[in-house]
Amino acid sequence: MAALSWAAALRGARGLCGLAARGAAGFLRHGSPRTYAAVSAESLPTFGFLLDIDGVLVRGHNVIPAALDAFHRLVTPQGHLRVPVVFVTNAGNTLQHRKAQELSALLGCKVEPDQVILSHSPMKIFSQHHDKRMLVSGQGPVVENARALGFRNVVTMEELRTAFPVLDMVDLERRPTTTPPLRSDFPAIEGVLLLGEPVRWETSLQLIVDVLLSNGNPGTGLVTAPYPHLPVLASNMDLLWMAEAKMPRFGHGTFLLCLEAIYQKLTGKELRYEALMGKPSLLTYQYAEQLIRQQAERRGWAAPIRRLYAVGDNPMSDIYGANLFHQYLQRAECAAQAEQQGAGGPQKQWPSATQSCTSILVCTGVYRPQEPSAREQPFHGHRDFGFSPALLRASHVVSDIHEAMRLAFREEGWTW
Ligand SMILES: [Mg+2]
Repeated sequence: MAALSWAAALRGARGLCGLAARGAAGFLRHGSPRTYAAVSAESLPTFGFLLDIDGVLVRGHNVIPAALDAFHRLVTPQGHLRVPVVFVTNAGNTLQHRKAQELSALLGCKVEPDQVILSHSPMKIFSQHHDKRMLVSGQGPVVENARALGFRNVVTMEELRTAFPVLDMVDLERRPTTTPPLRSDFPAIEGVLLLGEPVRWETSLQLIVDVLLSNGNPGTGLVTAPYPHLPVLASNMDLLWMAEAKMPRFGHGTFLLCLEAIYQKLTGKELRYEALMGKPSLLTYQYAEQLIRQQAERRGWAAPIRRLYAVGDNPMSDIYGANLFHQYLQRAECAAQAEQQGAGGPQKQWPSATQSCTSILVCTGVYRPQEPSAREQPFHGHRDFGFSPALLRASHVVSDIHEAMRLAFREEGWTW
């Protein structure tokens, strides 16, 4: 699938959210699951799982016992998964193969790197930017990650800061003691990758804004900032996350909020993203669906995957995203039917047989059943995602991942 059509699909998410607010009722299935007169014989899978990691399979460095039970049943005696599975996390400060190794060790079954979707993994499809000189923001193995995503010409914040030492002036201890000569041999930056929350926010905020305002030449100091500005690709919009502290911690969404506010204040214009990815973005679910399909093909399962079950612990990212994707699939299905009848309309923008994405909320992570409803809480989602409270309601709420998989297998008429 072409990168541009994915990007277009992502931009469509905004409209979908708006539409959802007007008429989402009815698409979420609640209540009793389908019943079967008899459990059918297990054959080729036509369903698969999108599994969140933190709060679903692990808490900190410890595996959740229910996950071990679930994978014990999900894996054949030969060590193969019975159905396609991808792991979808908003984490980004690690490498895909390292996360796969961690999961393999924790779950006791082989997890391949291409079963893991980190928050920035969909950047692989934005090949039109892969040869551009991109400034990368984040922490951990940012250069390795950017290269693994396909970006061949990456500049780190530290390299930029070293090239132009007079830009980073907040920390008195880090200010240059002499004025270095102006560099003219530093090639222009052509775009910005925001992979995750950096450390020293003041440095990253200052240098990213400098790059955008100067059209990639922060040594020159333009009088008029170009608009539209250089392309910005960002992943992980989570405002907050839970660690050991009793109160939530700042996530990358908080960093983006700061960057957007500064850019808006300085220019009077909105910071625009070429793409925003990570849950709950539609792009991430489309990417996950593509990996599920490829996995099924590799296993030689000829039957198309028609139904996905997305299991997560966070209503704002896991459930909202799964429901948004389900809604998209439903609309695409309607459009396809209309097309067949000659009415035209929007089509699914990639080859897909998937018809539904069922959201299942577990209680082993962020979500607490006794919490006040989302309607009483402020919206913590990103600016570019309209808020539709209906999308926060899971199709099913269960205790843990084992219950979630049991439910899905029962719905599919498979033995568990
Ligand atoms: Mg989670």
